[in-house]
Amino acid sequence: MDEFADLREGVRGLCAQFPPDYWRSCDQNKMYPEEFVAAMTASGYLAALIPEEFGGSGLGVLEASIILEEVNRSGGNAAQCHAQMYTMGTVLRHGSKEQKSRWLPGIASGSIRLQAFGVTEPGAGSDTTHLTTTAVRDGNRYRINGQKIFISRVQHSDYLLLLARTTPLSEVKRRSQGLSVFMVDLSEALTHGLRVAPIATMMNHETNALFFDDVPVPADNLIGEQGEGFRYILDGMNAERILIAGECLGDGYFFIDRATAYARERIVFDRPIGQNQGIQFPLARAYAHLKAADLTRLDAAKRFDHGEKAGEQANIAKLLASEASWEAANQAIQTYGGYGFAVDYDIERKFRETRLFQVAPISTNLILAYLGEHVLGLPRSY
Ligand SMILES: Cc1cc2nc3c(=O)[nH]c(=O)nc-3n(C[C@H](O)[C@H](O)[C@H](O)COP(=O)(O)OP(=O)(O)OC[C@H]3O[C@@H](n4cnc5c(N)ncnc54)[C@H](O)[C@@H]3O)c2cc1C
Repeated sequence: MDEFADLREGVRGLCAQFPPDYWRSCDQNKMYPEEFVAAMTASGYLAALIPEEFGGSGLGVLEASIILEEVNRSGGNAAQCHAQMYTMGTVLRHGSKEQKSRWLPGIASGSIRLQAFGVTEPGAGSDTTHLTTTAVRDGNRYRINGQKIFISRVQHSDYLLLLARTTPLSEVKRRSQGLSVFMVDLSEALTHGLRVAPIATMMNHETNALFFDDVPVPADNLIGEQGEGFRYILDGMNAERILIAGECLGDGYFFIDRATAYARERIVFDRPIGQNQGIQFPLARAYAHLKAADLTRLDAAKRFDHGEKAGEQANIAKLLASEASWEAANQAIQTYGGYGFAVDYDIERKFRETRLFQVAPISTNLILAYLGEHVLGLPRSY
């Protein structure tokens, strides 16, 4: 008996209003799924992680990851709105009392969208502490200069959570020091020196290059202490890994659901193709890998929600779930044969979407480097 059966049922009911042809149409027209995001907001699912005192439902990362899993299992793409769920975590954990009451109720109700998170830069890539965007104090504000890349959902967000350097690298003892986090009001910034340049990608995912030219941000919008931002961002990463693992699993189950149904029905050489071991066994193997990844996700989420250390488990869950979803995607396209490439069957769209998870929000090699260094005690590889 699944203890989350009711939650899953609720999300499935919402997703049933947005069948695959809705997502196909968004994909083909490069449209933001506004109606779907509005429904997810109205239902309260995107406020799952916000405590009740601020208008959310105060659920754990486990429930939140199941919500995202069900969206992806239905054929949808939770990446269009997942950041509204967890980007606020930095404000919740490290913001002042005033900042929490200023922003969290609006994020919970959806009147404020905080679903843009600005870390990656063209020069630094995965090496976050080498980012060069600066925030320099100027009276009661900071002035931001620099460039970010691949910053998603900026055009559908009211705020951007930004990581910028407030103390030059040459003046800090450790390179993780001297970075700070800001809430940037995007409508203000867009009229004061911020330029947004969309980047076209292989799937329907709004992402952008950002150019900051002396953009003023009120000092009141600094989250926590100046110079401690890298630690704040790291704090949120385990939750993000577990939530993304949920999306990977949802994709994987989508592919297995679809491919097994197709393999039972498609008759070639007078028998269902699923009767052939060459089709059946790879699907069974992909399913086994998904179930194993699912167990690591459950373990990571439970630890996280109980306040235990979950770095190892969260990283393993994200690694295994992203690989399992990709294996299932590959096997689904093989099972569908030529139809796997036909847009109307949704396999090729989900195939493109699920590939992202091995690169973003963190690439597989960086997870392996974490496990090698922090879990296995091997020398740092970079
Ligand atoms: C669609 C999309 C949406 C995104 N959304 C956001 C967002 O909203 N906000 C945000 O801040 N970022 C976002 N990103 C950025 C994403 O997090 C980065 O692309 C990712 O972290 C990798 O950085 P990079 O692309 O610069 O690759 P690089 O750092 O250049 O790495 C390239 C390859 O080299 C490997 N590599 C690098 N260094 C090492 C090493 N020491 N050891 C082994 N392998 C190594 C990497 O694993 C990777 O495979 C998004 C990216 C995409 C594609």
